[in-house]
Amino acid sequence: MAVLVVGGAGYIGSHAAHVLRRKGYDVIIYDDLSTGHKTLADGFDLVIGDIADSAKIAKLLSRCDAVMHFAAHAYVGESVQNPKKYFHNNVTAALTLLDTVMESRVRKFIFSSTCAVYGNPVKVPITEENPRQPVNPYGATKLAFENALEAYGRAYGLRFVSFRYFNAAGADENGKVGELHAPETHLIPLIFQAAQGKRAAVDIFGDDYPTADGTCIRDYIHVTDLAEAHVLGLEYLSKGESTAVNLGSGDGYSVKQVVAAVERITGRKVPTHITARRPGDPPELVADPALAEKLLKWKAKRSLDDIISTAWKWAQQSAH
Ligand code: UDP
Repeated sequence: MAVLVVGGAGYIGSHAAHVLRRKGYDVIIYDDLSTGHKTLADGFDLVIGDIADSAKIAKLLSRCDAVMHFAAHAYVGESVQNPKKYFHNNVTAALTLLDTVMESRVRKFIFSSTCAVYGNPVKVPITEENPRQPVNPYGATKLAFENALEAYGRAYGLRFVSFRYFNAAGADENGKVGELHAPETHLIPLIFQAAQGKRAAVDIFGDDYPTADGTCIRDYIHVTDLAEAHVLGLEYLSKGESTAVNLGSGDGYSVKQVVAAVERITGRKVPTHITARRPGDPPELVADPALAEKLLKWKAKRSLDDIISTAWKWAQQSAH
């Protein structure tokens, strides 16, 4: 079985490509390299192109059985400043991709969605029943595409899984792929930069939240666990069903707890600096992962310590 991994030169897509190959799937990576990195696609069949280039994608689809779509802009803050960029790419261009798929014989589609579709959750841990009320344009674009998948599923027989990721982090144990964002905005790589002396300190965005230590709680999920869920998602699609499902560990850690874990694992001191809250950050986002376990037999296997140790190994490789 061959899978077109759209956005496969990015952080999560490249990990999915590696896991697919380990499980015996053929993989074609399609990426415009706008935020992806050629090195993350090393050793794969890489086609460089735009997701709205129907002719190019149609040719590749004739050799594929399923599509995984990771190609999206994913900075919440930027989406507030520049919603046009987000709606154009994550909705308009993504719908062109979806329509190209519908014109092919491929009917299996896996979509990278996000817990940002829930906005401020009414209840934590968050189940898939939580109302979808995004509080930023990034989440709104992901919800729009989820809605399109549901409607296309009903009308045209598309089979899809929308995976709502919680906080993806960590790096593959093989050392070949890891997180490479520019600019880096994510907590764990920023903590490493502070531990390595590449920045004076890591900012802690608010310590006055209604949580035990006052800092925000998130559900960090190892990127290889996410990637493995995608392969199980393909098997689920073979049953002819569709779903939207959370991918999280079910465990929450505060910013201060993550900093402490990094200090323990790396043996380095991490200078911190308390700053104002970041607009749009809910105090606590933790998944209820029960549906993923029920439908896909998937459960996070890797702990926060595994996340930090694999990511630390990656961050220390001199090439990056
Ligand atoms: N965070 C922080 N300082 C930073 C970056 C992030 O305190 O420099 C906090 C942020 O407020 C959130 C958590 O770390 O509670 C995870 O943020 P990240 O940007 O990594 O992921 P997000 O939750 O936005 O997807």
